[in-house]
Amino acid sequence: MTETRDTVILGSGCAGLTAAIYTARAGLKPLVLEGHEPGGQLSITTLVENFPGWPEGIQGPELIDNMKKQSARFGATFQLAHLNSVDLKVHPYRLQTSAGEILTRTIIVASGASARWLGLESEQALIGHGVSSCATCDGFFFRGKPIAVVGGGDSAMEEALFLTRFATKVTLLHRRDAFRASKIMLERAAAHPNIELRTNTVVDEVLGVEEKELKGLRLRDVTNGMTSTLAVDGLFLGIGHEPNAKMFTGQLDLDDEGYIKTQNNVFTTHRGAVVPGVYACGDVQDRRYRQAITAAGSGCMAALETEKYLEEHGR
Ligand code: NAP
Repeated sequence: MTETRDTVILGSGCAGLTAAIYTARAGLKPLVLEGHEPGGQLSITTLVENFPGWPEGIQGPELIDNMKKQSARFGATFQLAHLNSVDLKVHPYRLQTSAGEILTRTIIVASGASARWLGLESEQALIGHGVSSCATCDGFFFRGKPIAVVGGGDSAMEEALFLTRFATKVTLLHRRDAFRASKIMLERAAAHPNIELRTNTVVDEVLGVEEKELKGLRLRDVTNGMTSTLAVDGLFLGIGHEPNAKMFTGQLDLDDEGYIKTQNNVFTTHRGAVVPGVYACGDVQDRRYRQAITAAGSGCMAALETEKYLEEHGR
């Protein structure tokens, strides 16, 4: 018979690993399923300057690696597996994964959010051939070349600043004239001699599909409809993220953008009623703060509620 686990954590980003540290220290031997983006968004970012305890900042991948080692020291185990489906109608809950079926008394959903794309056919055709959503992964390939970044939030500013290490020039394209980015990040980008901020501008088409290599962008000024061509070799998207919660459709309440709805921070619901032993933490349930430290905080809460649930309902 398949062993029933006390808890399974879906996701190995900041929220999932914090939940792993807490549940492992509580002796629950958590299994952490690492999905298609192990380590979450921190693992593809650069310097994290606002995580308390690191006065000089810390590289995102190093921070994640430290958390992983910390949880493993207390007995957390990790499995690289894709979650195919979840059945919350039976208890213990059943998870169907690419590595087989898992039975568990509790689930901590920390599956995060993934990068958003513009959705243009030409953009999709050129992913990996000049189009990317990860500056830290792909910036290196654009050394000595002009590139464009789309977005008006902190991610876009961070990407643009990072890409100045490689690119001859970075043109930052934003669809409105007001920026969502924090003042400090926007000021840094605006002050950089190799970054040009272009507002009220959208990408209508990515050029180079036939050549299988990005050749430029067809842009449109939304104030007057005028189109123009921008000669760049790379396009980086910094336009936010989509929550990874689709596998819970119909079993957990999601909001209109697909984020898991939570009550009292981490309790999940179905048709408004709390789902016992299923907690959500981090970016999959947070459309407001979305910070590493808030993800870690909610991961801690989910772990403490898991412990409490198992104490009350038995292991
Ligand atoms: P965000 O704040 O939601 O910004 C997304 C940006 O992309 C917005 O400017 C939005 O435009 C634009 N956008 C969305 N869909 C678009 C589309 N289809 N076409 C063109 N533009 C589109 O997302 P984020 O920048 O990823 O930041 C998320 C959170 O992480 C924030 O809380 C941020 O502070 C945090 N973060 C912090 C740091 C840091 O402190 N170092 C770094 C990265 C992220 P509109 O403004 O018109 O909606």
